Amino acid sequence: MTRDQVYNFAAGPSVLPESALKTAQAELLNFRGSGMSVMEISHRSALFQEVFDSAQAKLRRLMNVPDTHEILLLQGGATTQFAAIPMNLIEGGCADYAVTGNFSAKAAEEAEKYGSVHIACSTADTGHDRIPTQAELRFSPEAKYFYYCANNTVYGTEWQYTPSAPSALVSDMSSDILSREVDVSKFGLIYAGAQKNMSPAGLTVVIVDKALAGRELPCTPKILSYKTMIETGSLLNTPPCWCIYMLDLTLDWVEKQGGVKAMDELRHARADRIYDFLDGSRLFTARALPGSRSYMNITFRTPSAELDAEFVKEAASRGLVNLKGHKVTGGLRASLYNAMPVEGAQALLDFMKEFEAKHHG
Ligand SMILES: *Cc1c(COP(=O)(O)O)cnc(C)c1O
Repeated sequence: MTRDQVYNFAAGPSVLPESALKTAQAELLNFRGSGMSVMEISHRSALFQEVFDSAQAKLRRLMNVPDTHEILLLQGGATTQFAAIPMNLIEGGCADYAVTGNFSAKAAEEAEKYGSVHIACSTADTGHDRIPTQAELRFSPEAKYFYYCANNTVYGTEWQYTPSAPSALVSDMSSDILSREVDVSKFGLIYAGAQKNMSPAGLTVVIVDKALAGRELPCTPKILSYKTMIETGSLLNTPPCWCIYMLDLTLDWVEKQGGVKAMDELRHARADRIYDFLDGSRLFTARALPGSRSYMNITFRTPSAELDAEFVKEAASRGLVNLKGHKVTGGLRASLYNAMPVEGAQALLDFMKEFEAKHHG
């Protein structure tokens, strides 16, 4: 198949804006008249620093990040932050965790190595099909921070509100960063593995309140210390140069579309019609409960695993690819990140309607 025959619904790594890929392609062998690829130049060169500063400045503008917060561009993926967060913030004490899916469960498990974890709420009893209300959250008076995962990529649920907590607010926004407006000033720390909504795999964005830096446990590796990374401008060692370049190009695209506000409108334009259809469908059912549903990852299923498999296969033959659900949930999942055009969501919906007409007995 050719690229223009395919809509890629992969959960991550996932679809990137075509304009970003095309610019990268055009600049691949000779980056801005240097005669070298951006992959071949020093991370200490003025040329690369320009790319770094540009990406960082765009992210600051797009997310309206206040001066109190530093934007770090790091390696290690979101999973490294599962450890880095408690190492830097727990101070040998306690932290509150909301467990609403597999990534928050993993983060809580990792944090136990560095302090004591208090589960502020868990939705495991109903298979993580919903997001708790503010009133359900139980905070420990000693907690140094409250941790939650804004969008549960695997289960297809998303916090529709920003929780308030008595301690620093920490959020994993790997799969919904830049898709909706967020008041960064309310957060102690926001982080995201870049490969869902921003860039190729290999880059992690950490937005941290500078007032929280410098509290790390003595065992914290330098590379994971927010204080060190703030002091070195994320350049303690070689950063993921290529991914930072791709981030810059993706953010160009986001700005040209109209910024995060435009992304917010797009997420509704893509997902609302699919949820509306699912709620009236005689064949498909949505996994997540209304009020808790993700705009980025729609989880759903047919009545049987066999029919799910048939759906995935037939969809792929039409160029609608990567619709199989995660192994822990089974079923189906359509990931509709920022770079997924509304036409892609419509093509999926048209196919779902056709599939329903054919299989509803
Ligand atoms: C994908 C994902 C992760 C894991 O990211 P890695 O970069 O692979 O470590 C963590 N949290 C969320 C919400 C994710 O979607």
